[in-house]
Amino acid sequence: MKSAKEIRRILDKLETQHPDADTELRYTTAFELLVATILSAQSTDVRVNMVTPALFKRYPNAHALAKATTSELEPQIHSTGFFRAKSKSLIAMAQALVAKHAGDVPAHMEKLVELPGVGRKTANVVLGHALGVPGLPVDRHVLRVANRIGIAESDDPEIVEQQLTRALPKARWTRASDTLILHGRRICKPKPLCDQCAVRDDCDYFRLVIARARDGKAPKKKKTKAHATAKKASRAASGAGAPRAVKKAGAPRAVKQVRRGPR
Ligand code: SF4
Repeated sequence: MKSAKEIRRILDKLETQHPDADTELRYTTAFELLVATILSAQSTDVRVNMVTPALFKRYPNAHALAKATTSELEPQIHSTGFFRAKSKSLIAMAQALVAKHAGDVPAHMEKLVELPGVGRKTANVVLGHALGVPGLPVDRHVLRVANRIGIAESDDPEIVEQQLTRALPKARWTRASDTLILHGRRICKPKPLCDQCAVRDDCDYFRLVIARARDGKAPKKKKTKAHATAKKASRAASGAGAPRAVKKAGAPRAVKQVRRGPR
């Protein structure tokens, strides 16, 4: 994985490439952003933005949404997918806000993740964009782009969040996430557009996979600290590379155990 200094330099380049990076969800309050982010799971921001204006008009705050029924809510959010689960989560989330926080959205990660339907990613989106609390949401785009470039090294979003937040000052967290998300949507798609990428020269995936494929070579596996440690551990377990045992005179011979099957 790259050093903190390299990570900051790579983010500088990406931020220059995407100066407009921000959440694409439309909202005016923390409550609206919380609702929109829950709706965006397995959906697109464009789709969510199509349903939220009418939804926010009908349920402008947690008190209103807490009184909704699933049969009222489901048809309104149907087009965002998983509408049954989402309507249950939204109503339960609003009821919890009313019961525990007087209808306000708390500005604390621990309190946000206690709400039904709210995970760390959603909490970070709301904290960073609507509540002025530094947060670095890690979604599938951040996971893919950060691992490809080599500025993070895990498929666990929480570990990637830790790796990136360790390397960046708090003031950069939310923008870094927005930038990586936008880069993943526009350039570093599942089939990446490397020729349009500002960090191509810094990218491990480009160097080890894309550039080699262009030269007709097989992709090279990335050698990471985790790989090295795992390799060392497996070598140690198999005894390979370990110093040879010195046979001492008079030492008892090992007894070969014979496994007997059932008689
Ligand atoms: S060089 Fe290609 S793989 Fe690497 S970050 Fe850019 S678009 Fe993604």
